[in-house]
Amino acid sequence: MNSWQITRFASPLELRCTAEPEPTGSQVLVRIERSGVCHSDLHIWSGFFDLGGGKRFEVSQRMSLPFTLGHEIVGEVIGLGPEAEGVEVGTKGIVHPWIGCGECKACRSGEELRCYAPRTIGTRRDGGYSDRVLVPHGRYIVPYGGLDPALAATLACSGLTAYSALRKLPPLDDEDSVLLIGAGGVGLACIGLARAMLPARIVVAEVSEAKRNAALAQGAHEAVDGSGPEGRTRVVAAAGGKPPRAVIDFVGSPETMALALEAVDVGGTVVAVGLFGGELAISTALLPLRQATIRGSYVGSLAELRDLVALMQAREVKTVPVATRPMAEVNAILHDLEAGRVVGRCVMVP
Ligand SMILES: [Zn+2]
Ligand SMILES: [Zn+2]
Repeated sequence: MNSWQITRFASPLELRCTAEPEPTGSQVLVRIERSGVCHSDLHIWSGFFDLGGGKRFEVSQRMSLPFTLGHEIVGEVIGLGPEAEGVEVGTKGIVHPWIGCGECKACRSGEELRCYAPRTIGTRRDGGYSDRVLVPHGRYIVPYGGLDPALAATLACSGLTAYSALRKLPPLDDEDSVLLIGAGGVGLACIGLARAMLPARIVVAEVSEAKRNAALAQGAHEAVDGSGPEGRTRVVAAAGGKPPRAVIDFVGSPETMALALEAVDVGGTVVAVGLFGGELAISTALLPLRQATIRGSYVGSLAELRDLVALMQAREVKTVPVATRPMAEVNAILHDLEAGRVVGRCVMVP
C-alpha cells in the first residue's frame, strides 16, 4: 500500500510503499476512496499543540514515526479478519475514527472518547493519507448510502464535531439566537446543520470577510466581525439586540473565548470546540453571577455519527464546499490550509 507519511515532524510528508496489511481478529481492511484533510492534522504534523502559558503538548509522546495522518476516511471493505462482523467485502462506508480500547466502562457504554487507551485512526493508529486503512471492528464502518463520498468523508470529523457541539446546546426556540465563532471548515459545516436542527437565529462571528460571505451563503442569518473592543456590540446587534443564549467557539483562541464569555446571555452556555490554543483569565465571580455554563466538546461518538448520517439522508442540509484534489498534492494542501487559503474542506483521492 502507498501512504503519505510523517517521517520527521514539520517536514514534507513522504510517499512510502509498504506491504498490504493482513486483517487479524475482528479487523477489517478498507480500500480508501476519499480522505479529508483536517486542520488538526496541521498540529500533529507540526509535532505539538499549544496549551497556552508557554506549555506545549508534544504529540511525539504518543506516536512513533513514520506515521500516516488522516481521520476523515471513506472507503470500501476489501478484507476481513477471521472474527470480523457487521460488514462484508464490498460494504462502503465512513470510517468512524474515534475509537477507544473497546473494553473499559466508557467504551462499553458507547463513550469511547472518554477512554484512556484510545486507538484513534489518524492520530494514534495509521490513518487515511493512504490507499488502505485497517479498522479494528466492522461496527466502525458507517454506510453513507446516497451521500456524495467526498462530503461523507468530512462527516467523520468536521461534520461530527459540529453536530456533537450542537447536541450540547440547551433547548432553543425561535426567539433565541446562537453565536458561532469562526467560519472555517467546522464552523461552516455547523451553519447548515444548525439551520436543519434549530429554530434559533444563527449569528456568525468571523474576522475574514471572505469567510463571513461564505457563512452567509451557507445560511447564517447574520455574519459580523467579532474582533476588537466593539466585537460584543456588533454580535448583540446582529442577534437582534439580545445576547445569544448559546455560543459555540470553533476557534479556541484567548480572543474568541473572551468574546464568547462576554457575549453569551445570562444563564447561557458556551461550548468550546476549537483547538487554536492559548489561555484566558476568567473572573471567578463571573460564572456564578452570570450562571454561565462552559463545556468542552471534542469530535463525537459513533452513535452521533450514525445519527448525523441519518439526518443528512432525511433532511435537506446545506453542506460545506468540498474541494477534491489528488492525494499526491498533500504537501501543497497542508500549506494551503496552514496559510488559510482553503475555504470549506479539502478531500483527497488516493
Ligand atoms: Zn479532524
Ligand atoms: Zn476504553
